[in-house]
Amino acid sequence: MLARVVLNEHGGQFPRDPEQLVTLPGIGRSTANSIATFCFDACAPILDGNVKRVFTRCFGIEGFPGNAAVEKQLWTLAEELMPAKQADIYNQAQMDLGATLCTRSKPRCADCPLGEICVARATNRQVELPQRKPRREIPQREVTLLILRSKNHVLLERRPPVGIWGGLLSLPELPEQASAEVFVAQRLACQIDGVLSAPTAIHLHPFPLAHHTIDLQCHGASTSNGIRIGMARLG
Ligand code: SF4
Repeated sequence: MLARVVLNEHGGQFPRDPEQLVTLPGIGRSTANSIATFCFDACAPILDGNVKRVFTRCFGIEGFPGNAAVEKQLWTLAEELMPAKQADIYNQAQMDLGATLCTRSKPRCADCPLGEICVARATNRQVELPQRKPRREIPQREVTLLILRSKNHVLLERRPPVGIWGGLLSLPELPEQASAEVFVAQRLACQIDGVLSAPTAIHLHPFPLAHHTIDLQCHGASTSNGIRIGMARLG
């Protein structure tokens, strides 16, 4: 793909300018600057994970570096600090410093050439910086199911085709706000023969799905004679 773009859009000549390099497929800003610096003697800053860690610690930059505003701040800093000459040596030194001294855990601050000016070292915040990605709040959904048993059978219903467990057989789900007694009386009354025991609540542990957590409540009940449709045999 990249080779085709270079051939078709750049006459087969690999671009040298960072602004052209960054338009190539799969090449981001830091990689473009890195290629331009190391291959074509350009003067452009890089900002890989190692360099971001050095900057956030050395300058005490708050916030998750993947956040657009924080990343912008880091790029501004990187451009301001960029020397006019020997950009390749400077960029390599930045990356090596992050990879060997200012490591993710146990940075070797006593050996670091930035130790005298480093905010994280002065404030003992090396573990806190750079800040981690904020945790996403996982929405919780309450679902109440009815376990209606008759001897060794249990009532199952096919769920609507879309939504959670779409199209699958499931224990009947109670609409929000509906009590188990009202649900059984109104919706299932015609399916039940004999006497229905009073539903008892069973609270299960919440369990996680891909995008939310289900807080599952069940109401268990049984009939004396049976249910006429939708029965699945237990065991
Ligand atoms: S002094 Fe420590 S925390 Fe600060 S840049 Fe150097 S190695 Fe990283």
